[in-house]
Amino acid sequence: MAEGKKKSRIIPKKYPMPEQDPNERVKNFNEVPLGQDAETITLEAKRCLQCKESPTRKLCKDGCPVEIDIPGFIKQVQEGNFSEAMRIIRLKQNLPAVCGRVCPYENQCEGNCIVGKKNDPVGIGRIERFLADWERNEQKKGKIEAPPSTGKKVAVVGGGPAGLTVAGDLAKLGHKATVFEALQYSGGVLVYGIPEFRLPKEIVKAEVDFIRRSGVDIKNDHVVGKLETVDELLEEHDAVFIGTGAGLPNWTNLEGENLNGILSANEFLTRVNLMKAFNFPDYDTPIRVGKRVVTLGGGNVAMDCARTALRLGAEESIILYRRSDAELPARREEIHHAKEEGVRFELLAAPVKYIGDDCGNVKQIEAIRMELGEPDDSGRRRPIRIEGSNFVLDCQTVLIAIGQSPNPLVPMATPDLKTTKWGTIAVDADGRTSKKGVFAGGDISTGAATVILAMGDGKRAAKAIHKYLTEDPSWPDAETFEKASC
Ligand code: FAD
Ligand code: SF4
Ligand code: SF4
Repeated sequence: MAEGKKKSRIIPKKYPMPEQDPNERVKNFNEVPLGQDAETITLEAKRCLQCKESPTRKLCKDGCPVEIDIPGFIKQVQEGNFSEAMRIIRLKQNLPAVCGRVCPYENQCEGNCIVGKKNDPVGIGRIERFLADWERNEQKKGKIEAPPSTGKKVAVVGGGPAGLTVAGDLAKLGHKATVFEALQYSGGVLVYGIPEFRLPKEIVKAEVDFIRRSGVDIKNDHVVGKLETVDELLEEHDAVFIGTGAGLPNWTNLEGENLNGILSANEFLTRVNLMKAFNFPDYDTPIRVGKRVVTLGGGNVAMDCARTALRLGAEESIILYRRSDAELPARREEIHHAKEEGVRFELLAAPVKYIGDDCGNVKQIEAIRMELGEPDDSGRRRPIRIEGSNFVLDCQTVLIAIGQSPNPLVPMATPDLKTTKWGTIAVDADGRTSKKGVFAGGDISTGAATVILAMGDGKRAAKAIHKYLTEDPSWPDAETFEKASC
């Protein structure tokens, strides 16, 4: 049937996703969206027009950084072939249950959906989520068929989305990949950053197990740069991939920042996620949260902090952000959920200093009102201080979520690895670094970004490593990285 004929029958809204009630969910850490059943997902898939590719317009597929054949897998769902739909997804995607939950699809695949021009776009993310959950419940836990071994060995430093993707793709090509991960759990930000109520840890564990069963070895509690160097890894492996992420918190450097009760988002979320600080007394590692918590920042990390603070018992949780609602960089769904849960947004305001009590605990934050000027380099309107508009907010906890920088340990321990002025590892388009045989990707080379962009980097690097190991060991000259590091 022609696309034009189908358009008239489109149901304008996505089939609703059941969610925990906001008043209930702020008292627990269970996942907020509850998922949809097979019947509803099939109806959602039937909203897709199966658009034909054309050089003159962008489609869903063009918005997916790992190039999943979206119309292809949705067609299979329309026909009830979930297994085949999942096979198509797995050709390109190593962490489907994760991406179906946390991908910023509104700016990616769904942002390009033709249906979305006049109606809600097809719910590509939720269909992917359903299929991955369906597969997890259906699949046998055995070893996954591996191709014949090439005898080549690759060390992957960092077990986040970038590292796991490289390792999974190399295993599919017959290479032996070993992941060296600093923490006791693998998954990177997926385990230590994104909270349980957005991404249950058992789902990350299942995705990591899938990669392990495809033949990847994972060595946890293994800090590269301390236990061994990249050079030592190169002696035992044919190539090395560095995917150590951007876990170094940025600070405001304002007066009073060392008061008790002021924490980086990174420390706060890690203590909640990894040390189960929310589960006291079952876990003996509680975290103190005041009655009023102020979170600085407006991205996903800030939303995660503000919503976690409510679940830990804060009576009031406030986001302080220097631009307006339209510029909030977090996913719209997270902003919507935060508002539903009662997070208060103090917009167009920036911190000036922190004020402590006699015991060295933070008791107030002084802030100043802002207005928006001309767009800056990022394309967003520049926030400008309104002199004399200072105000004070009482608070007992401040969470700083104003961005993360690349983890410096591996670059510092590898002096011949060229870095940029932002501390990221300089790479060419294939993820090759200034050091022969060493590749890098994900947040350590792009700066803090998204799961799917880190995975896209991982996929490109895996292809390039395969080419390096099997057909073309040539390497770019030093000048390439001089340019990349500027
Ligand atoms: P990471 O996920 O940081 O993984 C790096 C891994 O390397 C870590 O496991 C680390 O322990 C390990 N490592 C570091 N140094 C060493 C070493 N020396 N030796 C061995 N191992 C080492 N993105 C989205 O798309 N959607 C979201 O909703 C979203 N929400 C987020 C919420 C939070 C709180 C945070 C912090 C980020 C969020 N992001 C989100 C961003 C996304 O998670 C990251 O862009 C992505 O995880 C980057 O993947 P990566 O593999 O490059 O790095
Ligand atoms: Fe969309 Fe992300 Fe899935 Fe790609 S991986 S199809 S961008 S939800
Ligand atoms: Fe379906 Fe939207 Fe992709 Fe068209 S653009 S094939 S309607 S998901």
